Amino acid sequence: PITFSVSQDDPTSRPGDGSPERPLRIVLLGQNGVGKSTLAIALGGEFDRSASVDSDSQVVGEGYVRMVTVDGEESCIVVYDNWKQDLSTLKCDVCLLVFSVTDRRSFHRTAQLRLLLRETQPQTPIILVGNKSDLVRSREVTTEEAIASATLFEGQYLEMSASLDHRTSELLQGAVRAARGQWPALGS
Ligand code: GDP
Ligand code: MG
Repeated sequence: PITFSVSQDDPTSRPGDGSPERPLRIVLLGQNGVGKSTLAIALGGEFDRSASVDSDSQVVGEGYVRMVTVDGEESCIVVYDNWKQDLSTLKCDVCLLVFSVTDRRSFHRTAQLRLLLRETQPQTPIILVGNKSDLVRSREVTTEEAIASATLFEGQYLEMSASLDHRTSELLQGAVRAARGQWPALGS
């Protein structure tokens, strides 16, 4: 069994390498109700309190930790469900900007978040995630405009349904690849 003990020497200041001491950090951001918590559990598995990361003696997050194998390589990941602090304190290896395809306001919110994120960490790869694709009849955002938005900021777009577990494994693989520095992270 692997014990996850995130090292205390300001682990947020440097990139994760996928080891249990320095997991790849995946952060979910987006408006309330878009499905972040559902996704965090789907991607991150069991909640592990030992993954709490302290930075400048301040608790900056708690995440879901697990080992994953992507492209034949094993990595430790930590998935943070949202970020309650000031976005400028956020340090991660990939950011998942989540909206619901049934809620146009949540789509606009991802654009705002992306601008905030780009101010403080311009290099972090961003995957735009359109969740709730199962709710076909209440769709408010088209696939085409989401792709156009992602293209604007050199992100990639994935449309999925966390409830139906549709394309969640693709999101996990894409997030891990992006966190490892591989880009583009998603297949077409
Ligand atoms: P959060 O506020 O972003 O953390 O969103 P939650 O994960 O709490 O989800 C909000 C609501 O949307 C819950 O009732 C979920 O069951 C529902 N939900 C999440 N993902 C999906 C999805 O892919 N399809 C549908 N139809 N509902 C979803
Ligand atoms: Mg939530």
